[in-house]
Amino acid sequence: MKKSFWAARPFGYGEYPMLDVGQVIEIEVGQQRNDEKLIRLGLLREVSDKPVQCGKCGLLFLDMGHLDRHGRNHHAMTAIESGRREDPEADVTTAEQLGRLRALEAADEFAEKNIPINLEKTKASLEASRGRRASR
Ligand SMILES: [Zn+2]
Repeated sequence: MKKSFWAARPFGYGEYPMLDVGQVIEIEVGQQRNDEKLIRLGLLREVSDKPVQCGKCGLLFLDMGHLDRHGRNHHAMTAIESGRREDPEADVTTAEQLGRLRALEAADEFAEKNIPINLEKTKASLEASRGRRASR
């Protein structure tokens, strides 16, 4: 019977040259010679929750945090930017995490758009007050 496990450390496994931390794989325990040893050492840990999937390459991850790190390392973008594959069965916790991440991204975007405008205003008001001082 196949079971889902997540990698607690980066290491090569079978067909995977290198697993990311938090990457979820399905394995038939005992098919690879080292399976039981890897589980005993805690390198492979059993997954209890539904994993999240990378929208770029389709790999599965333990949670949004690990998926986000994978996105930054491998696709030079966050999990949100790469577009996590929508899963109608996604649990509430994941949806909440996603919502929080989106709120953070929106706040960043807002700050990026508005800070230069504020700087302009500051610069303009500085020049205006300087102008007043000069005319006095
Ligand atoms: Zn990916």
